[in-house]
Amino acid sequence: MADYNLNADNTHFFADVCKNFDYAAQFTKHDAGLLDQIKSCNSVYRFRFPIRKGDGFEVIDAWRVEHSQHQSPTKGGIRYSEMVNEDEVMALAALMTYKCAIVNVPFGGAKGGIRINPKNYTVQELENITRRYTVELAKKNFIGPSIDVPAPDYGTGEREMSWIADTYATMNPGQLDAMGSVTGKPISLHGIQGRREATGRGVAIAIRECVDVAEDMEKLGLSTGISGKRIIVQGLGNVGYYTAKFLQEYGGIIVGICEFEGAIYNANGLDVESVFQQRKSTGSILNYPGVTVFKNSAEGLEQPCDILVPAALENQITAENAGRIQAKIIAEGANGPTTPEAESIFYAKGGIIIPDMYANAGGVTVSYFEWLKNLSHVAFGRINRRFEENTNLNMVNMVEGITGIKLSPVQRATIVKGASELELVNSGLEDTM
Ligand code: GLU
Repeated sequence: MADYNLNADNTHFFADVCKNFDYAAQFTKHDAGLLDQIKSCNSVYRFRFPIRKGDGFEVIDAWRVEHSQHQSPTKGGIRYSEMVNEDEVMALAALMTYKCAIVNVPFGGAKGGIRINPKNYTVQELENITRRYTVELAKKNFIGPSIDVPAPDYGTGEREMSWIADTYATMNPGQLDAMGSVTGKPISLHGIQGRREATGRGVAIAIRECVDVAEDMEKLGLSTGISGKRIIVQGLGNVGYYTAKFLQEYGGIIVGICEFEGAIYNANGLDVESVFQQRKSTGSILNYPGVTVFKNSAEGLEQPCDILVPAALENQITAENAGRIQAKIIAEGANGPTTPEAESIFYAKGGIIIPDMYANAGGVTVSYFEWLKNLSHVAFGRINRRFEENTNLNMVNMVEGITGIKLSPVQRATIVKGASELELVNSGLEDTM
């Protein structure tokens, strides 16, 4: 691997985020120095560590950026990708600050990145990398329930979060809230129901709400409501998959899906689940039956549709292709998929952009509840159980009242408890505290 160029100016993502900030800031009356403080990244930690690979060693490049500590802890995912660099992590951390502020989740913004392609490593190697990364963060006070709380992002998921939680807890024996050091954990390891699909659900809801505004839809020449809207989704990862799934559930028609290997299109609609399963079993979407195939994935973005959801990576819609996008609405499932130049071109055509920091804030919102649950040691499942038992009890009383049949104490207890136990098992929360 080529050595990393330490000059963070080698991309423009952070500068793009700052450009948007400056644009918004001109409408405020805040002091220029204060605005500068809000905009800048407070702490950038760049480190390298070796891991054993095959018969030798490999040095891994890694980052954690805490953009703003105006609220503690700072919060944001960890990305595993070959394209990770300092500029990108800074930009993503800044977006987390603004995202949390918009949805009123009391965290500062942060982001982490490890420059690897996870596909090139065994599970054992990935575990070593993740655990070592956590140790490095802990050594410098860059992780902890009240300091900085990572979460999944591109290339990471529940498995990586469980390694982080376990490493942190092992390094901090007896720390009661150690599980609050990371969110997006598996439900069996102090995670929370709904976190996995939260970001996609949020994107789908943001779109549903947007297309419900009759006045805006009229301007775009579209009907009001999600039903029948033609949608192209880029990315069939966690965000894209759930976004597409929920939009289909709401009545949208997923006409196109774009992935690394290419894009597929069918004006009559694709079934998201079967495309997903096809990719899972064959490694590609391109052999899906009855579709037009685009070997060049970017071409998929330019096909006829009403709504385009870039839900993969940044810099996907640029000055180069913005003019060819046929969608009237771009919903940013990914962070920073549309460059400022592309935004201007798209706005000039009369389009609407639902910005990332609002559209994809569902993930961190549910992370907040996971963190609260870990700190308070209250399992929402148990709250549900009490609630459920109460409801069942009321129901039994009501049935007895209406029918005049008196149940025995054992029968009453069985009905009251039975349903709630079942609910707990279904929710997977029975062991979780
Ligand atoms: N990686 C997600 C994001 O970009 C989630 C962050 C979190 O849950 O802390 O918003």
